[in-house]
Amino acid sequence: MGPIDKENKDLRRSLHLLASKVERNEAILRSFFEMELRLLSCSNLAELLDLILVEFKEYFRLTAVNLILLDPESAARSLLDDYVPPEPGHSLRFVNNQRLLKTLFPTVKLRTGELSAQLKSIAFPSNPYILSSALLPLIRHDCLIGSLHLGSKDPARYSEHFDYDYVGHLASIIAVCIENCINQQNLKRLSIIDMLTKVNNRRAFDQEIIKELSRASRHQTPLSCLFIDLDFFKLVNDNFGHQVGDKVLSSVGLLLKKNLRKTDFVARYGGEEFAILLPNCDSEKAIEIGEQLRHKILHMVIHNNDNAPFRISASIGATSCSSDSFAFDDLDAQAHALLKAADQAVYLAKEKGRNRIEYRPLPDMKPELFSQINSDMRPI
Ligand code: GH3
Ligand code: MG
Ligand code: MG
Repeated sequence: MGPIDKENKDLRRSLHLLASKVERNEAILRSFFEMELRLLSCSNLAELLDLILVEFKEYFRLTAVNLILLDPESAARSLLDDYVPPEPGHSLRFVNNQRLLKTLFPTVKLRTGELSAQLKSIAFPSNPYILSSALLPLIRHDCLIGSLHLGSKDPARYSEHFDYDYVGHLASIIAVCIENCINQQNLKRLSIIDMLTKVNNRRAFDQEIIKELSRASRHQTPLSCLFIDLDFFKLVNDNFGHQVGDKVLSSVGLLLKKNLRKTDFVARYGGEEFAILLPNCDSEKAIEIGEQLRHKILHMVIHNNDNAPFRISASIGATSCSSDSFAFDDLDAQAHALLKAADQAVYLAKEKGRNRIEYRPLPDMKPELFSQINSDMRPI
């Protein structure tokens, strides 16, 4: 073989190596691009966290994926009531200040390679077998908002001598997605929550009753409704001031939330009126629950501005429907009929002396009565 042939052969080999490297890089970039699209399509924080903490591990063949989020006002935590991370306490942690994050990123730069024992205990507290890792600073508006830790048992997986641009890019996408999910969910929550009592507002109730009626008819289960109107509430304001009145309303909201099932729906329906939906609950059970709530409200001790204790009472109206209550499919008309019966039951309770519960069954529902149901409805 002449020198030119040899040179040719070497060149070909280099070219081949280069081509396979390009192919490998393309595959990596494609996989990152696919994951970025999936990150961007997450509609809530729990879904996003599952993608990062569970799916990343498999998708990128990692030994551990942990995340620390800066959450000083518990904005993220408040959206994750029912969310259980894959390794509670380790894979997802929240911090109230940047101290820990700054220990991980003194220069706010992506960190790859082997970690010191101290950093490993912070980044992977439950996994001492991590031999190489990438610690990704999550940055929004020049502020360190979190840290994502990708860990591998393979010491060659992340080397400090390589430039992992695509991992850095992934970190910026994750930071944007986390911020977006939190903002969007909080905005949505603000639109359905009553700010004073922190229970749902009337708008949310009006949407929920339609959903629950539809569900009850699909599953052939009963649905009950309670209306709670605080007694002589005007006197609370007159005697102790509006501020104390507000305190009473928020205490009642808390009491209702604490004493109902997760599946029940509590809303502030008007000034001193609360409405509750009890799915899969018949009339007997609804009266029992209403009676327990009445008793709890009566025994709730509130303090006025002079720290003197006082109590309030409530009148409660209850009503129920079952799958055969309605001879028509109009969910709006069904909702009106249910609300009207609950409202009339409250009236009855007031008439009979207050601090009591009254039940009112739904009237005989004939399709021709629709319009009457709608027009009879007293503005609450
Ligand atoms: P009844 O036993 O007949 O229900 O008497 P009531 O005094 O509770 O009923 P009324 O409808 O006469 O008065 C309701 C009061 O609720 C009047 C209003 O000032 C008060 N209220 C409504 N919304 C709020 C609020 O957000 N904060 C406070 N502090 N008071 C409120
Ligand atoms: Mg009222
Ligand atoms: Mg009242």
